[in-house]
Amino acid sequence: MSGWRIETACPQCGAPTDLEETERLVTCPFCRVKSFLVGRDGFRYLLPSKSTRRQDLLYVPYWRFKGLFFACRQAGVEHRFADVNEIALALSSLPRTLGLRPQGLRLRFLTPQAEGRFLPPERSLGDAMTAFLSRLRKPHERPLLCTAHIGESMGLLYAPYGIDGPFLLDAVLDRPLSIRTPPELLSLPVDDLRPAAGVTFLPALCPDCGWDLEGSPQALALHCRSCQSSWIPSGERLTQVSSCCATGGDPGSFFLPFWEIGCELRGIELRTRGELARAANLPAAPRKEWEEEPFRFWVPAFKIRAENFLQLAKALTLHPLTGRLEPSLPGPRHHPVTLPVEEACESLKLILAAFLRPRRDLPERLAAVEIRPERFRLAYLPFRETAHDWIQPEAKIAVNRNILGLSANL
Ligand SMILES: [Zn+2]
Ligand SMILES: [Zn+2]
Repeated sequence: MSGWRIETACPQCGAPTDLEETERLVTCPFCRVKSFLVGRDGFRYLLPSKSTRRQDLLYVPYWRFKGLFFACRQAGVEHRFADVNEIALALSSLPRTLGLRPQGLRLRFLTPQAEGRFLPPERSLGDAMTAFLSRLRKPHERPLLCTAHIGESMGLLYAPYGIDGPFLLDAVLDRPLSIRTPPELLSLPVDDLRPAAGVTFLPALCPDCGWDLEGSPQALALHCRSCQSSWIPSGERLTQVSSCCATGGDPGSFFLPFWEIGCELRGIELRTRGELARAANLPAAPRKEWEEEPFRFWVPAFKIRAENFLQLAKALTLHPLTGRLEPSLPGPRHHPVTLPVEEACESLKLILAAFLRPRRDLPERLAAVEIRPERFRLAYLPFRETAHDWIQPEAKIAVNRNILGLSANL
């Protein structure tokens, strides 16, 4: 599947550039200035218009959600990948979705200078997602124990419409639609529909020491080699994240990033690794020191297929490498962080469901559990390279190298 292409301009020299939608760290090919792209409440995009009367156009918002949908039942976890969009207005006469249309177009980021009138979303992203999910569900299905959506948490797409007498005009193609203009659209105020910026270009410099931040184009966590710090976006700023690396791997190890997340859990005794061993009914008796070791969730900090995501999270949560972690940055052979910690937190109940035993008690136990993430850090773990896989010997897990390579656009 292919992602969107975004047409943008360098904030320093104004040179036009095209981006893949997953690119965050962008180097201008002309002035070489590096910028890191952040969206305060997710990114906002415009579909291009062919219309010459841009100032008269009405931009209708559509929520976009892309990523993995998980649904946990007693029998197991189902998952599917989806890349969908759904209208954010309550007007039923307008197209409910833009379908695959954005894929074939060069989109732009929304800027406050954009011409036209931008309608604010009336439905929340949550409402739009519930509407989408309810269409997927079959009526006879048993209730779900828990669900999770992991991926691009929020994005808003604006589609341009023109008004041509009593009919609406598709301003992307500059063609009339056979849809009558809803009267609500005509009574909208002309002013006060100014857009907010859909993207901010931050200079890719360490906020602490001013050194160049490094990372691959898709990286959501950047590293400063000068003061050995790691940075992630928070709103429109960069904020420091505590990061560490596991020692003792092979010299040629490849490092994969994980979020180590400490939580306050209610409705279940799960404060230590010893309690985890009992909750998961692990075959070996818990070691004495496990009763002192705080329980942490381990979640991949990168996009990967659903099966691998859950498998990795479960294996590392049950067999963490906590004792080997030291504050340091990974070497150049590492995979970038491509999944934000907020998204990783969405999966915690699902991971808990994957190891709780006995299974027959799962519905009642899950229903009683409340998980509040309290602290997190970034941990890079060493994987050994083989012909087809990356292998973590202690946790006894493997990641297929092809699958990892193909997961960038999930
Ligand atoms: Zn430039
Ligand atoms: Zn620095």
